[in-house]
Amino acid sequence: MSKNDMASELKYKLNFLSLNLFNSIGETDICLLNNLFNGSDGIKVYAKTEFQNPGGSIKDRPAFYMIRDAINKNILKQNMTIIDSSSGNTGISYAMIGALLDIKVKIYAPSNMSEERKQIIKLYGAELILTPAEESHDGAIKKSLEEYKRGGNNIYYMPDQYNNPNNAMSHYETTALEIITQTGGNIDYFVTGIGTGGTIIGTGKRLKEYNKNIKIIAVVPDNPMHGIEGWKYNYSFNFQGFDYNDIIDDYIKVDTEGSYLMLKQLIKQEGLLCGFSSGANLYGIHKLSQKYKGNYSTVLPDTGSRYLSTLVFKEML
Ligand code: PMP
Repeated sequence: MSKNDMASELKYKLNFLSLNLFNSIGETDICLLNNLFNGSDGIKVYAKTEFQNPGGSIKDRPAFYMIRDAINKNILKQNMTIIDSSSGNTGISYAMIGALLDIKVKIYAPSNMSEERKQIIKLYGAELILTPAEESHDGAIKKSLEEYKRGGNNIYYMPDQYNNPNNAMSHYETTALEIITQTGGNIDYFVTGIGTGGTIIGTGKRLKEYNKNIKIIAVVPDNPMHGIEGWKYNYSFNFQGFDYNDIIDDYIKVDTEGSYLMLKQLIKQEGLLCGFSSGANLYGIHKLSQKYKGNYSTVLPDTGSRYLSTLVFKEML
């Protein structure tokens, strides 16, 4: 089969498969968290249940957008391998999409990622390369880049989620519109943490275009050794077409302990089994709501079922 045939076969497959798995990415529900914020007069909190995505997290949205764009531009062809670093959720999304399209996937991640995530990535048939935990995510990024450079772009496609505008675009075109539709646009704040920045930048830009008075507030960890998986302390991103200076209005710091406590309450009081960053997002809102009343919106980025082996979850029993 020629290279052109392989590219068009993959495009055909992509379109055909839009009818099943890809169709179930996004369009998650929104929950009004009545129990958790009960008693906080003058505030409402709407949270999108991103664990409903087929890969269990919000990262299905950007992973699908980046891979679809690469296939449409012929940068990614059938016989190539998707290579990237990910502490978990994006890696799972790549692996799931790769399984469906029959494309090889190679993920670099720090060895201290949760056992469940390691298993899920491997179950989808992807290759997982673990890097030293003490080098954290930066070590995984470095190793994946080295291998990408070694192999070259005829062998590998690297989505580069920190700089790929399709990451932010997925939230601009889907997450933000869903929030506007599901709340009737009746929100004052969008509050969320930063990993790659795709969620806050993409969603924030669209919400501000809809209503410039909506405030976009980033929740950030209070120290570099924080335990909020999926978040970066020293973040950096560069999405062409999205200027973050125009999007993020303010920052609120949260500590890990408070975030964990909030997560426990979320699970016990709302029945929503989510991951650590969901607790941290809501803890940020809790802190803000002491000062600012109004309607808050946020995302619950992933399912808690992939953290069951962690000490924090065991202690909840
Ligand atoms: N929470 C979790 C659990 C995540 O995996 C991520 C992505 N790393 C985020 C939050 C942050 O999302 P984003 O990359 O869009 O900033």
